Amino acid sequence: MFGVYAPGMPVAFMTFDGLYALQHRGQESAGMAVSDGDTITVVKDMGLVTNVFDERTLVPLQGHLAIGHTRYSTTGSSTWRNAQPVYRSVGEAGFALGHNGNLTNTETLAAGAGMLPGVVGSDSDLVAELIARRFPAEGHGRSDGRDLEAALLEVLPTLEGAFSFVLMDTAHLVGVRDPNGFRPLCLGRLDGGWVLASESPALDVIGAHFVREIEPGEMVVIDAAGCRTLRPFPAERVEPKLCIFEFVYIARPDTHLYAKEVHGARRRMGELLAEQAPVAADLVMGVPESGVPAAEGFARHSGIPYGQGLVKNRYIGRTFIAPNQEMRAAGVRRKLNPLRENVAGKRLVVVDDSVVRGTTQRAVTRMLREAGATEVHLRISSPPWRWPCFYGIDAGSRSELLAANMTVPDIQEYLGVDSIAYLTLENLVRAIEAPRAGFCAACLTGEYPVEVPVTLTKAVLEVPAASGG
Ligand code: SF4
Repeated sequence: MFGVYAPGMPVAFMTFDGLYALQHRGQESAGMAVSDGDTITVVKDMGLVTNVFDERTLVPLQGHLAIGHTRYSTTGSSTWRNAQPVYRSVGEAGFALGHNGNLTNTETLAAGAGMLPGVVGSDSDLVAELIARRFPAEGHGRSDGRDLEAALLEVLPTLEGAFSFVLMDTAHLVGVRDPNGFRPLCLGRLDGGWVLASESPALDVIGAHFVREIEPGEMVVIDAAGCRTLRPFPAERVEPKLCIFEFVYIARPDTHLYAKEVHGARRRMGELLAEQAPVAADLVMGVPESGVPAAEGFARHSGIPYGQGLVKNRYIGRTFIAPNQEMRAAGVRRKLNPLRENVAGKRLVVVDDSVVRGTTQRAVTRMLREAGATEVHLRISSPPWRWPCFYGIDAGSRSELLAANMTVPDIQEYLGVDSIAYLTLENLVRAIEAPRAGFCAACLTGEYPVEVPVTLTKAVLEVPAASGG
């Protein structure tokens, strides 16, 4: 997510640059909403940021305020209807919303508002609908123009789960982080403007400087008067639980979270992995790209030379984030190819960030053996992923998670590797070097910081299929 308030600047082009820097967070659809003070224009479509926007679409998007979004779906299908920003036409000129995360009380909220299945397409759409219903009737808005802010103060405390939001009406830019801060959101400053972004590199690319992370449970409102902080949630709900996988896999290596650069944390994960699970080998290699910094750390600590064993097609995005299993499996072959001269006749340490379904590691091991590797020792810079995530990462149900259904020796056999070792949770937290920071690690421990209803699925808002007969 990205948002910018910058009168006199080309906000649509800045939003494009910001979204382009955040493309790794979602690749299903992209969109932006721009306000010129009187009207809000929304442009969104399926596909990557560069598929959706070009000069022809950006030039007419004139204004002083914009939000943008790239989608990775966790509730609601991957369709045009569910692309974001979500827009509602209420009050003066309506408002737009972008959401990162996944609500856990979607079903209760929809039922409480009397919404029949199929009325809203995603949890984000549901939140927009709840906000729209809190807007005063036409012509009865607040004289200070703070209808959106007032509606949010009523709706936000009713939401549960993971939600970072960027919102806007014609005159205000709003950023919100849920009381646990599962998903990141940071604030940046421009000469004469403000920026909100999921990750700090999106500030760098437009020349903004990092001010701070939005705190868990904080709402910021940015307008002509500056930037104000509000606290919409009761203090007892506020407990920082940043997704630990932001450090392992999700965030860009040049992103700063909890004041730590992600790349350094990944390198230290590799160092601790080498200390924890040493092995005799000739070459350490990483599975591109998020396995590479940990591989460098492993090599540095172990003294085994580091080298490249796989070439990644740099024009292909993440496979994990692809919406179905077939696309993920085909994606590995399209994405990675071995460097035969580097790996032939060698005992390899292959470092990767996580094993979810094992699709990548199985394919990679086969490729490396076919290319002549004599041994493949897999080292994973996170603990076994045993539980589903309900807070914004659709890694699959328990039945799809390898480590939920197999012992570590069985996983070793299934993947076809000579040995396998996972970084312990204790070492993972140590590697991040943010000692007082709070983390969610529910997919590793099964301890969910926010209660999850047993009925929660991606299709929670859809009309149930006809039962036949
Ligand atoms: S369950 Fe795992 S992936 Fe989901 S938010 Fe928590 S740490 Fe992140």
